[in-house]
Amino acid sequence: MAAPSHRRSLRKRRVLAVSAAFVAAAAGAGVLVANASAGAVDLYHQTLAAKDGWASSGTGTTGGSKADAAHTFTVSTRAELVKALGSASDTTPRIIKVKGTIDANTDDSGKKLTCADYASGTGYSLPAYLKAFDPATYGRSKLPSGAQETARVAAQNKQAKNVVLKVPANTTIVGVPGSGAGLTGAMLQIQGVDNVIVRNLTFAATEDCFPQWDPTDGDDGNWNSNYDAVTLRGATHVWADHNTFTDAPHFDSANPKYFGREYQIHDGALDITKSSDLVTVSRNQFTSHDKTMLIGSSDSEPAGKLRVSLHHNVWKGIVQRAPLARVGQVHIYNNMYDVTPLNGYAVQYSINSRAKAQVVAENNYWKVPSSVKVAKLLSGDGTGAVKDSGNLVNGTATDLVAAYNAASSKDLRTTVDWTPTLTAGLTPATNLPTELATTTGAGVLS
Ligand code: CA
Ligand code: CA
Repeated sequence: MAAPSHRRSLRKRRVLAVSAAFVAAAAGAGVLVANASAGAVDLYHQTLAAKDGWASSGTGTTGGSKADAAHTFTVSTRAELVKALGSASDTTPRIIKVKGTIDANTDDSGKKLTCADYASGTGYSLPAYLKAFDPATYGRSKLPSGAQETARVAAQNKQAKNVVLKVPANTTIVGVPGSGAGLTGAMLQIQGVDNVIVRNLTFAATEDCFPQWDPTDGDDGNWNSNYDAVTLRGATHVWADHNTFTDAPHFDSANPKYFGREYQIHDGALDITKSSDLVTVSRNQFTSHDKTMLIGSSDSEPAGKLRVSLHHNVWKGIVQRAPLARVGQVHIYNNMYDVTPLNGYAVQYSINSRAKAQVVAENNYWKVPSSVKVAKLLSGDGTGAVKDSGNLVNGTATDLVAAYNAASSKDLRTTVDWTPTLTAGLTPATNLPTELATTTGAGVLS
């Protein structure tokens, strides 16, 4: 009779010990993870907190938090990730834990694939392409067409099959803490789906092996690439949090020029386009990149969508589009912009408001070297609005819109048609350089 009683008391002591640990962990998590809706929930099951930006509106953003065991995956290879993502039309909640770095330019057996591997068998070669579409002989009036363009598209499609990873609805993708989690060379495509969470991942080296020459783009033509590290197209309720985006290790300064134009192998870091809506982008680091974030890909995107909140992000060594906003109601608060040139990336502007975008830029901090004019930090087409308040430049309160409008003929409008209410964590800008240095990007969540 003694044995069962002993077991019972032992079990009781264990339960008490677990409860105490649980309470301690919950209390700690509540302090460390300000964005989590409940302190006791582990990283993989966390959901976007109430009032935390546009993605918290309506049904909110819960990602795959309701996933069952059969739809909870830990992945370390591209093939495992593809399998975990499943079908883009399957709405079953799923949690995907990324452990370590996954290189998208690998085959199903994990073998590294190069640009030459993708070109193989298509007939594409860069020298042949350059010969075929040299403006001296091909002219500048039309897009490339012909055998070498067909071959380029075929090669590009082969790479796309590997690097484009389609995310279904009701999914959480999160890096395993301490594993250096991330995706290299990938484009995470969140298209036509609702309710996705992407956290704690480093997105690096998203590169197009086969940029297209477009002689009609701008005055001098441009080389354009196909892949953003993360791309939202017609997506709703998306929370991108605590990720790091970088071009490293290949910086644009190493790009050659053809036809007098930079052979650009990068496109966006995180593009939010084609009537995407209700998006919160928080505590990410965007660094060493040119065309960083589109909100809207065309001036003719319909009104009523493209509502995005960007808060507590660090933008460091960014050339432009931080973001380029079109059409939508966009709240940019408590971000840190360090526009000191970095790795050859020199700022053109930080925020562009065009196509009647309604931007509220509030309590952000710009670190600006003497080589950069404050009037250059904004940009616009004369129809976009930026309502700015509480912004600091090197610690000093600064009216960025007034500075821009004084120097530009395409003035920004200064009033907007909305007032942000989903403003979790909004504070004055003073302490952002210190606070955001240790609380943003991949690798700080536990
Ligand atoms: Ca893009
Ligand atoms: Ca002016």
